[in-house]
Amino acid sequence: MLAGPNPGVEAATHSQPAWVVLAYLIAGVCFILALRRLSSPETSRRGNRLGMVGMAIAVVITLAVHDIASLLEISVAIAIGAVIGLTTARRIQMTAMPQLVAAFHSLVGLAAVLVGAAAFLNPDAFGILGDEGIHTVSRVEMALGVAIGAITFSGSVIAFLKLNGNMSGAPILLPGRHVLNIATLAGILGLVAYFTLDQSPWVFWTVTALSFVIGFLLIIPIGGADMPVVVSMLNSYSGWAAAAMGFTLGNSAMIITGALVGSSGAILSYIMCRAMNRSFISVIAGGFGGDAAASGGAAVINRPYRRGSAEDAAFLMKQAEQVIIVPGYGMAVAQAQHVLREMGDLLKKEGVRVKYAIHPVAGRMPGHMNVLLAEANVPYDEVFELEDINSEFAQTDVAFVIGANDVTNPAAKTDKSSPIFGMPILDVEKARTVLFVKRSMGGAGYAGVDNELFYRDNTMMLLADAKKMVEEIVKALA
Ligand code: NDP
Repeated sequence: MLAGPNPGVEAATHSQPAWVVLAYLIAGVCFILALRRLSSPETSRRGNRLGMVGMAIAVVITLAVHDIASLLEISVAIAIGAVIGLTTARRIQMTAMPQLVAAFHSLVGLAAVLVGAAAFLNPDAFGILGDEGIHTVSRVEMALGVAIGAITFSGSVIAFLKLNGNMSGAPILLPGRHVLNIATLAGILGLVAYFTLDQSPWVFWTVTALSFVIGFLLIIPIGGADMPVVVSMLNSYSGWAAAAMGFTLGNSAMIITGALVGSSGAILSYIMCRAMNRSFISVIAGGFGGDAAASGGAAVINRPYRRGSAEDAAFLMKQAEQVIIVPGYGMAVAQAQHVLREMGDLLKKEGVRVKYAIHPVAGRMPGHMNVLLAEANVPYDEVFELEDINSEFAQTDVAFVIGANDVTNPAAKTDKSSPIFGMPILDVEKARTVLFVKRSMGGAGYAGVDNELFYRDNTMMLLADAKKMVEEIVKALA
């Protein structure tokens, strides 16, 4: 890039003193190390701090070397952003994180569109104006950046509305949607190519408008059950949009950051697709998740089941050699993680081996359960991923399922018509006894389907709010 054929960007980057390039490089290294550390709960706090240091370096250097606005204006803008960010971070419930992330992605997309539009309207200020208008390479970077940014924006707004419950989580399937989507995408790519020959405003604005439309069209057919993948995919798009804008602005820190976000988001989407046994293409093509797949769709079925009390649960677990705790979304809703750790501690005092099994899509965001357990100081060496613990359920006395449902549902293995068919699940039913904590028999999980396990002979239902139930179990144990 730095030695590339784009004179505008060359002017913007080559003219920078070596110390600026070095500082951006240090910021980039901070981001890479931050990502490395974020991959484990043990090191994630340090990772976050390193990322903040990297971003502080990048922002300060950018402000110092570019004569973009008065420091006062910038400080006021930063202060407004900081107040909004701090208030949101303090108020947000863990259960609302996915929609918050979707909302933030929409802002990244919108920022990319606004930067692209500013560069198009005033190319001289961005150093991308040549004798024959905007440099050809800059036109491609700008048009692609605006297109990806607009797709990220409208896609993230729809994802936000679906996750926040303002819009049904069920897929909206337009007739002929595949043809419509392919035609719109082909139109965008054709116009981006044409923009290299003709930089008329209509070409630029049509690319922008069509991209807003395709973002909307791509996300409305995606059902609730695929939303986690969509959020991480939009995260990836927002990174690529930022990277493309980094090229337009000739800012290497932005290119590095955008590429890191873009590629890590893509890797996360791939991992999540694998965890749910879904092909990436079928998620993007949409339509998965069915009418039942809106969160909370109740499945009231009058079948006999065994109900137990906190004392029964305490007795069974005290007798056990090994208890595997399976947390899910309900634990997050009830904020039961602290009292759950207390329960684990008491069981360990009784000589019981306690382990935690984490499904990759348990809760409502990647790593949701890990974060909550880490917050409650559950030792990391007691927390296991699905593939590392699944074989142990068969030799376990008690599986204690707290607010998890879909991630334990054997229909995923046997029922081809189930919206979760194919998703790997935690084999809790293989344990000698399965204790299920949930509030009622009527409440379904995210996929809106009933769970056969509730009615099995080796299952005992503990019907109550998760925190209250575990508090009572703790009392009974103590
Ligand atoms: P589920 O949504 O399948 O089940 C949650 C369970 O918790 C329900 O049985 C509910 O029953 C119970 N519950 C809710 N509130 C409470 C409470 N206060 N006390 C006790 N129980 C409660 O959760 P899982 O974690 O098993 O599965 C996650 C699902 O979410 C998957 O389908 C996944 O695809 C999807 N998803 C995951 C995302 C991610 O990134 N991890 C993001 C978006 C969706 P009741 O109402 O009767 O109490």
